[in-house]
Amino acid sequence: MSRTTERRADLVVVGAGTMGTWTALLAGRSGRSTILVDAFGAGHPRATSGDENRIIRNSHGTDPFYSRWARRAREHWIALGEQVAEQIFVQAGVLWFAGRRDGFEADSYRTLAALDIPVEHLSPEEVGARWPQVGLDSLSFALFEPEAGFLLARRGVAAAARQFGREGGTFRLADLRPGRTDGHRLLDVVDGAGERIAAGTFVFACGPWLPGLFPEAVGSLIKVTKQDVIYIGPAAGDGRFRSDKLPAWVDYDEAFWGVPAHDERGFKIGPDREGPPFDPSSEDRVVDSSSIDVVRRYLALRFPGLADQPIVETRVCQYETTPDTHFLIDRHPDWDNVWLVGGGSGHGFKHGPAIGEHVVARLDGRAVGPDEERFGLREREPQPGMRTGGHQPARA
Ligand SMILES: Cc1cc2nc3c(=O)[nH]c(=O)nc-3n(C[C@H](O)[C@H](O)[C@H](O)COP(=O)(O)OP(=O)(O)OC[C@H]3O[C@@H](n4cnc5c(N)ncnc54)[C@H](O)[C@@H]3O)c2cc1C
Repeated sequence: MSRTTERRADLVVVGAGTMGTWTALLAGRSGRSTILVDAFGAGHPRATSGDENRIIRNSHGTDPFYSRWARRAREHWIALGEQVAEQIFVQAGVLWFAGRRDGFEADSYRTLAALDIPVEHLSPEEVGARWPQVGLDSLSFALFEPEAGFLLARRGVAAAARQFGREGGTFRLADLRPGRTDGHRLLDVVDGAGERIAAGTFVFACGPWLPGLFPEAVGSLIKVTKQDVIYIGPAAGDGRFRSDKLPAWVDYDEAFWGVPAHDERGFKIGPDREGPPFDPSSEDRVVDSSSIDVVRRYLALRFPGLADQPIVETRVCQYETTPDTHFLIDRHPDWDNVWLVGGGSGHGFKHGPAIGEHVVARLDGRAVGPDEERFGLREREPQPGMRTGGHQPARA
């Protein structure tokens, strides 16, 4: 038998990844009594936001929309770091390796220059002079974004959740699903023991769990795949691959990205090819040997000083990808007071604060611009990705 309602709030946010936590923090600041709930805690290792770090970059090809969002989000992350007196953003810069003269990087260069976002266009010789640890074969040119870098991801989410609590928000550990309804309204959410939380509005920011929770509404829009991540240990005494000597980097055409060694973890590298379907709750997180093979081959090309160094750690994450790699931020088709937020598509972490701002604007009933209609719950045409691997798989 179901127990009675325990709590009531203006807003319940289910899911404390980057999207849900920032939504809760900014909704609290807008004056709403807000409860943030997560099944495993804020910044846990099964969440897509739960790795050590995530790149924050402005280059998005010809599309200026995410460049603007990334800049705004960056300010929020820096402000949060100051509030909690903890480093969350590391301004190591982001270096883009371009194999073609006129591809994604050339488009990005034009877009960032038009937006007045600092960006440098570097010849292979200039790259070699600044970062002699980088291999230059097959490099046409490079872009360098000096104000970009990476975010300490799981710590950043945990810090945002703590700050939410300090500002009066309530955090609960619970595995929730939609509960009772009244016509086009959801009345409450409920856990396995029958504990209910009632609220005026609900946001489900459940990352890779969203298609399982809402199979009819979201099941065909978001695909959840296994993604392998590998940390390489530089040789003893070798500081060339640390974050004070090397930027974060992306190779769009070769579909690899990485983060320099930081916090005494290894140099992180991700082959950006979509893995098999993945259950984020129950599957073991063990990387495939084929991912190790492609990583070693790429290291020999671009970071030869690491090609024979050992793997010191591995992670398995998951993408929750929409066909066009734009996020999902929309009302539930049956319940007027329920919002679905997710579809990070391999590039959503950095944007957490901008997503939170956008969701709060929608909750306030503010109109969204045509640019933001991209987030709607509808059939979408496949498009080249906003992250590296959206256009082609990493070479096997
Ligand atoms: C390998 C990899 C590399 C990436 N690199 C980058 C990058 O460099 N830069 C970048 O910006 N982005 C990157 N991304 C994408 C980014 O990490 C994601 O877009 C983002 O973290 C998604 O956040 P989220 O809040 O939507 O989901 P999550 O972080 O997964 O959070 C969802 C939360 O909901 C909770 N939850 C789910 N169901 C329930 C329930 N029923 N009840 C209670 N709680 C529930 C979960 O426990 C979880 O904590 C990368 C992703 C991967 C996998």
